[in-house]
Amino acid sequence: MPTKNTKKPIIYYWCIALLIIMAINTFILPLFAQSNVVTVTYDVFLDSLQADEITQVEVRDDSIYYIIETDEVEDSSETLITLNQEKPTVYQTVRMQDTSLVDRLYEAGVTFTEVLAAEPSLFSTIISTVIMIAVFSLIWQFIMRKIMGKSGGMGNAMSFGKSKAKIYVAAQTGKTFKDVAGQDEAKEALTEIVDFLHHPEKYAEVGAKLPKGALLVGPPGTGKTLLAQAVAGEANVPFFSISGSEFVEMFVGMGAAKVRDLFKQANEKAPCIVFIDEIDTIGKKRDNGPSGGGNDEREQTLNQLLTEMDGFDGQKGVVILAATNRPETLDKALLRPGRFDRRVPVELPDLHGREAILKVHAEKIKMEETIDFNAIARATAGASGAELANIINEGALRAVRMGRNMVNQNDLEESVEVIIAGYQRKGKVISKHEKEIIAYHEVGHALVAALQKKSAPVHKITIIPRTSGALGYTMQLEESEVFLLDKEVAFNKIVTFTGGRVAEEIQFGSITSGASNDIEQATRIARAMIARYGMDDDFGMVAFETVNNAYLGGDASLACSDETATKIDEAVVKLVREAHDKAYQIISENKEKLMEISNYLLEKETITGEEFMGVLNGTMKKESI
Ligand code: ADP
Ligand code: MG
Ligand code: ZN
Repeated sequence: MPTKNTKKPIIYYWCIALLIIMAINTFILPLFAQSNVVTVTYDVFLDSLQADEITQVEVRDDSIYYIIETDEVEDSSETLITLNQEKPTVYQTVRMQDTSLVDRLYEAGVTFTEVLAAEPSLFSTIISTVIMIAVFSLIWQFIMRKIMGKSGGMGNAMSFGKSKAKIYVAAQTGKTFKDVAGQDEAKEALTEIVDFLHHPEKYAEVGAKLPKGALLVGPPGTGKTLLAQAVAGEANVPFFSISGSEFVEMFVGMGAAKVRDLFKQANEKAPCIVFIDEIDTIGKKRDNGPSGGGNDEREQTLNQLLTEMDGFDGQKGVVILAATNRPETLDKALLRPGRFDRRVPVELPDLHGREAILKVHAEKIKMEETIDFNAIARATAGASGAELANIINEGALRAVRMGRNMVNQNDLEESVEVIIAGYQRKGKVISKHEKEIIAYHEVGHALVAALQKKSAPVHKITIIPRTSGALGYTMQLEESEVFLLDKEVAFNKIVTFTGGRVAEEIQFGSITSGASNDIEQATRIARAMIARYGMDDDFGMVAFETVNNAYLGGDASLACSDETATKIDEAVVKLVREAHDKAYQIISENKEKLMEISNYLLEKETITGEEFMGVLNGTMKKESI
């Protein structure tokens, strides 16, 4: 996230104000407050008393103040001291241990009850109070910030509806489109907004209105937040950023107040960008759900947001960007023209995009020149930009751990596996028999994959357990990016998933729980084929399932009669069984290869796709055993 530099200047200004006040207090104030006080020695006082010049006296604990009747004004007229003409000059002297003083004063007939010396003036009282308040509020602010942190609930309660929208200057986000790899379509859509912020007059001339808001939509970690920051960096305008969850506060009505405040600030700073991250937290469909107060709060906030969006002038140059990974939950009112009517998809990167992202992040890291980013990109189908950034970083960490000062291909390949399957668990003790089962299971997958026509080639097999709980796994790698799922390919996937269990059956005559993940995935594909892709001959092209949130795992909900649901279940069972039978046939026909490769794997623990194919085709037979 961008820097929080905005906080510093406030303290800075407070300090300067405090210094000025203190200076006034020590240097200027005394001139006014005690302007007419002249200090004299005790004998001067006694002389004046003797001469009957004194009219009033005030005796204090440690000093005596008095006024002289005939005080020539001209004498001190040029000095600052006599600016205050109404007040007579007050003389001050020390108080001696003079027991006869009272008698003498009495004899001289002076009044000595009145307060003569300037008490602290109203002005200085006010000033010192202000200083006290300033100091305390400074300390208070400091403590509050320490205790509550930046996002603490209490802290917000104290600021009474001030949005925490932070102002960013272009230099502070420090991001440009160059930092966003891939995502060319998204960048193109946003370039227009950047151009608008640079030359609003060009658009005004034609009368073209740019959309007030653009909604960045896509799975988590695809660079939505990054893109918004890059737009601000490119446009070189202030960037207000707030997360949807920050609107929903402890008091009802606060969210709405924050929205109002945010737009007020933005209008003052136009042209500028307002970025609302995770807008789904406030922008959910307004329904009559059973939930109570919290819902009210959200609705108020959303209503305020809609009002503000309608209220501001589109020509002025305030552009609102928002990001979400749950667009289907957004209120329709948010999406209608004049609000977030432009939708910018930010999808998971394709092969080319992944390679570009890897390279962008690799720039900051010392790498060997021979690194094949394409291979890494091919191994990470479905990974988001954030995951790819993480892979590069994990690779760098591994290089350091290994005592190298450069990242090599191995580091990256290992970190791909770390991201996919977790860290290696070297300490985990697995019995020899279990190790054997695991090896046969994995080779079962690999063998089925290799002996089917439409199936991705095997890239790697390993029986080193991982922290994710995987005891071993087989990695397949598509040769190129696949966008359409062919019915045969889908079925072959299921066959490959069942291959592990089948190998156990054939070799050991028993089955284990090791296939649970395979079973899950096989079932998921089979189900989707039947209920979503229309790949079942009996059902044909009818969708029984709808995907709820495509960007977040995509759980599906079934919409059909109970009878149909039963039939779908039956069809799924049938399909998976067919796949299992096919795998059984493949492996039992190649039982020797299964044993051979499994023994090789047991010995090596990790083998590459080439080694696997070598043993399978008999070209590596001599080396292996
Ligand atoms: P989102 O907001 O979509 O969940 P972010 O913008 O927060 O994702 O991305 C998280 C991180 O992932 C970014 O800070 C960046 O390091 C990396 N990242 C994601 N997409 C890209 C991309 N297209 N190019 C470069 N880095 C990316
Ligand atoms: Mg984000
Ligand atoms: Zn398996």
